[in-house]
Amino acid sequence: MTTLVTGGAGFVGANLCERLIADGETVIALDNLVTGRASNLAALESNPAFTLITHDLNEELPELPRLDRIYHCASPASPPEYQKFPIETLLVNAEGTRRLLDRAVEDGARFLFTSTSEVYGDPLDHPQREDYRGHVSSTGPRSMYDESKRYAEALITAYAGRYGIETRIVRIFNTYGPHMAPHDGRVVSNFIVQAIKGEPLTMYGTGQQTRSFQYVDDLIEGMVRLMNSSYSGPVNIGNPNEFTMLELATKVLAKTGSQSEIEFLPLPVDDPNRRRPDITLAKTLLGWEPRVSLDEGLTKTIAYYRSQVLGEVAAG
Ligand code: UDP
Repeated sequence: MTTLVTGGAGFVGANLCERLIADGETVIALDNLVTGRASNLAALESNPAFTLITHDLNEELPELPRLDRIYHCASPASPPEYQKFPIETLLVNAEGTRRLLDRAVEDGARFLFTSTSEVYGDPLDHPQREDYRGHVSSTGPRSMYDESKRYAEALITAYAGRYGIETRIVRIFNTYGPHMAPHDGRVVSNFIVQAIKGEPLTMYGTGQQTRSFQYVDDLIEGMVRLMNSSYSGPVNIGNPNEFTMLELATKVLAKTGSQSEIEFLPLPVDDPNRRRPDITLAKTLLGWEPRVSLDEGLTKTIAYYRSQVLGEVAAG
């Protein structure tokens, strides 16, 4: 099985590459290394079944062997990063997806797209089921991400209809774990790195907004099961365990033993007030549900960031 993972050096991509190699697949990772890091793939570097190609999906695809499967994970995903690269984010989800779909048609490859809970915007329905159509702004500060993911879902559906290719759409809810860059900007990495360094934890707003965080291994298991299934509609993969950002900060401080203060900063515009997946569909279709508790996941993630922060100190 030859599998292409776009965004292979990113947070989700690198975890996925490790899993697919362990499963015995031949894996080609593409990444332009704008938000991804080659160091995420260090453990696979010398594996003959693995190749990393530095490539921007906004250009024509490089020469590749015939592909059996494509996981399209390339896209900035952290709000500060997609806001820093708005046009690139729109294009990788729109034009990048189109290029890969053309290739899937050519090779008869099965195609999985990493969509997002952000297609639900600042949701009025709670928890969010796949048939909820969302509450999204087409011009707001998150629009480059939300709307390009929504467009990609529509494009994929149209390609599947016209060309009969096998497509899968995973809507990923907040995820954390190893391989997310310490300076990614998302809340779990920010809080842990700040706690380890003894810096104030940057709390946006009152901290009463909620999210439901899953550990990355659970996400990867869900993605692989979805790829192996025969279901082409969107499927939520996330952990329904919902908590406030203040609860998260308190837990991070306790688990790191940090004396950091909590600093309250303005809430970004259009920051969703709450988010929790309804995972009935994933449970029924894939027999999937999250297995890693927040405590266990945070322990592993804190260990990861301690090694990253030590690495930074060592590098000066
Ligand atoms: N957040 C925070 N401090 C940070 C980063 C994020 O309080 O340093 C908040 C953010 O405003 C949001 C929640 O944490 O309410 C989750 O943010 P994240 O960027 O991780 O993901 P998303 O907003 O895309 O769900």
